[in-house]
Amino acid sequence: MAPGAFIPGAIRSFTCHRQILPCAAACTVRHKRILRRGADVRRCSLRMHGSSRETPLALGTRAGQEVLLGDRLAVLPVPILSDNYSYLVIDRARKTAAAVDPAEPQVVVREANARGYRITSVITTHHHWDHAGGNAEIRQLLGKQDLEIIGGVGEDIPFANVYMKDGDEHKLKDSSLSIRAILTPCHTRGHVSFTVANPSSSGPGAALFCGDTLFIGGCGRFFEGSAKDMVASLAKLRKLPADTLVFCGHEYTISNLKFAAHVEAENEKVHSMLEWAKEQVARGDFTVPSTMGGELQYNPFMRCQELAGRHGSQWQSEEEAMASLREMKNRF
Ligand SMILES: [Zn+2]
Repeated sequence: MAPGAFIPGAIRSFTCHRQILPCAAACTVRHKRILRRGADVRRCSLRMHGSSRETPLALGTRAGQEVLLGDRLAVLPVPILSDNYSYLVIDRARKTAAAVDPAEPQVVVREANARGYRITSVITTHHHWDHAGGNAEIRQLLGKQDLEIIGGVGEDIPFANVYMKDGDEHKLKDSSLSIRAILTPCHTRGHVSFTVANPSSSGPGAALFCGDTLFIGGCGRFFEGSAKDMVASLAKLRKLPADTLVFCGHEYTISNLKFAAHVEAENEKVHSMLEWAKEQVARGDFTVPSTMGGELQYNPFMRCQELAGRHGSQWQSEEEAMASLREMKNRF
């Protein structure tokens, strides 16, 4: 097995992991039972499969489970609408949260209230209604006309009052957490992805919220950009550390991996991810988060350079591969 490789469900040994990741994708039956009873990995005697230097392909989450990154940052995926994910980015000490793309605000606010978190910011990845469409209502629900609403420059985000440029950093309101903007245009002209740095020394370094630019095993449609734009946007995300947790805007994983298996039938990582994703979804669990290191191994849109560079490839360049794959996926 190559360094960094991890096959979900293929358990051969137990070695030390850096702790605290809920690893439903990664652990033994016994461990999964422990997780289902509500424990997190810190209290579990069994550890994630793989050494501390390895990055799992994906982690997944039980419905209602917070993903803990160190002792100060947690992320709660909140399923909304038919297949969207909103997220609460939680400062665990202050019990404040930023809501990412809360397009069904009642659901997101109810979840925050039930857990005792106060929503102090909204982060919006792009202008589509199923991401930005709840901004007006969440201000009303929270009774805060001056609620911090963050978006990217060049994108028309309802009620935004903080605009971030590529590379900008911003400390979230009433929180010790900071976000960094990565402009990722193509799905929309001003689409922005955000990383939230893990302020503690344990756990993965950051969480990425990539809206409809990068999905687990796939990427967003090119509504307002070209294949060249998507190549450039995904190249920025590829530079993030392999252990970066990837929280995307939709649960499209099974459909994406079926397409990935069609493109790279010989890629074992794709097949094991697909089997794992089917099990997760059948249980009512989520496939988010994945990892950046995992995406590089099974996501064909993240692998265009490699696919175009192969001997006998039908594509002459990364851009050509990107354009062709997107067309194929649209018809798949
Ligand atoms: Zn969209």
